[in-house]
Amino acid sequence: MRIQRENPARPREIVGSVPVTTPDSVDDVVREAHRDFREWSRRPLGTRLAALGAAADRMDAKRSDLAALLARESGKPVADCRGEIGFAATYLRWVRDNAATVLMATTIDDDLGRIECAPAPYGVVAAITPWNAPIILSVLKLGPALAAGNTVVLKPSPLAPLAISAVAELLPGVRVMHGGAETVRALVAHPLIGKVAFTGGGDAGRSIAATAGQALTPVVLELGGNDPAVFLDDFALTPDDYERLVLASFATAGQVCMAAKRLYVPQARFDEFIESYLAAARRILTVGDPLDEKVTMGPVVSRAAAARMTALAADAWNRGGWMLPLAESPDSDGYFVAPTLVLDLPDDADLVRLEQFGPAVPVLTYDTEDEALARANNSELGLGASVWSVDEDRAFTFATRLEAGFTFINTHNRTGMSLRAPFGGTKRSGFGREYAVEGLREYVQTTVRHAPAAFRAGGPGMPARAYPGPTR
Ligand code: NAD
Repeated sequence: MRIQRENPARPREIVGSVPVTTPDSVDDVVREAHRDFREWSRRPLGTRLAALGAAADRMDAKRSDLAALLARESGKPVADCRGEIGFAATYLRWVRDNAATVLMATTIDDDLGRIECAPAPYGVVAAITPWNAPIILSVLKLGPALAAGNTVVLKPSPLAPLAISAVAELLPGVRVMHGGAETVRALVAHPLIGKVAFTGGGDAGRSIAATAGQALTPVVLELGGNDPAVFLDDFALTPDDYERLVLASFATAGQVCMAAKRLYVPQARFDEFIESYLAAARRILTVGDPLDEKVTMGPVVSRAAAARMTALAADAWNRGGWMLPLAESPDSDGYFVAPTLVLDLPDDADLVRLEQFGPAVPVLTYDTEDEALARANNSELGLGASVWSVDEDRAFTFATRLEAGFTFINTHNRTGMSLRAPFGGTKRSGFGREYAVEGLREYVQTTVRHAPAAFRAGGPGMPARAYPGPTR
């Protein structure tokens, strides 16, 4: 059995297909990955890190071909695909250069005894990833996991399985399997899986966490967001800033976990904001075939995603929303959805309340900062957020009151990421972190060897029922 993948810009074109791993063949793959683990984990750290650097070089060498394939299967503009692959290679080099400090054992050896703490791999990691940034979101798991000596079984999304499968071949210690919820369940429940790393939506996340809970396997979950962008009353944006803001919402046709999904603008500055936003959108948004270098927004990923956006737009219209289209979408049978700002919506409209994950963005007005804060925080999700102000200290102070794992200041979405800054959600947006030192630590557990001095040869000993005394 194979999964075929169509091109969302031209659904009649089949880009490629991948073999399905049925639930009853999952065991074979995990056992092979576990055999690989015995060998891989014994290699010296330097050898493992060098392999990641070499994989990054191979990714760079294949970047153009991989980007074209990714654009055709996902609908993302080809320039963005090149950017994602380049960023993933950069991240692998960051792991190569920074993992040793995190993965080093530490030893205390003094007159109280000898304690050795060493980070140990979990074994086989199951990585389950979404379609919207399949390369970087997989590499964020593969890099740290492999560095630490784990091997990985990677289960990509059926909506973009092709480019990531080619990337996985460039890395040692990775086996790829394809399939749906049943395959994932068999993988996550497998007793030889040491850790599960999932990025995707809340429904799948809940189901995976429940299966992992039954198996007592630790999980890291990177789930959806409904990021507010709050413009304080002193915000000052240049035309370039507005263009960056437009792409913060509409890159990948709005299908990004950390897209700016709700815009909160002071009532007194609303007209000026909308005028400048529309002008910037006209300059920066070109909707069309992802392989066209001029295109900045492609189709949404599937017929179902387009239907979901139609339903959200119908609800917005029924709730009194005023639709402002930002660019024309091509007349084609592709899954194109015109990028749209939606004004005048009540806070309980679906487009405000739920993660839209598509190219329709509500603009909401407010009168006081406390009101903006309360409304921005009124979500069960807490992934990202942004604050915009000429006064950086004021923005940071406001940001501390936002319920979000990652708050951008004067930007939002990928232009605000840093390899040094841990990313992940609060509330129902997940747990665990990617990037930075925290992202490396997710794939190791600390193991300890302790020889108390009391019991060294010739040591003073200790009564059998005693507790240890104070330490320095
Ligand atoms: P999805 O949850 O539908 O799929 C993600 C992965 O889970 C895929 O591999 C899919 O095959 C698998 N899957 C789907 N349903 C499953 C189930 N019931 N049981 C087990 N596995 C299942 O998500 P998607 O549409 O690919 O991605 C969109 C979602 O991912 C959005 O909510 C987005 O915000 C979120 N996301 C989060 C981050 C982050 O870093 N927090 C990054 C990207 C995307």
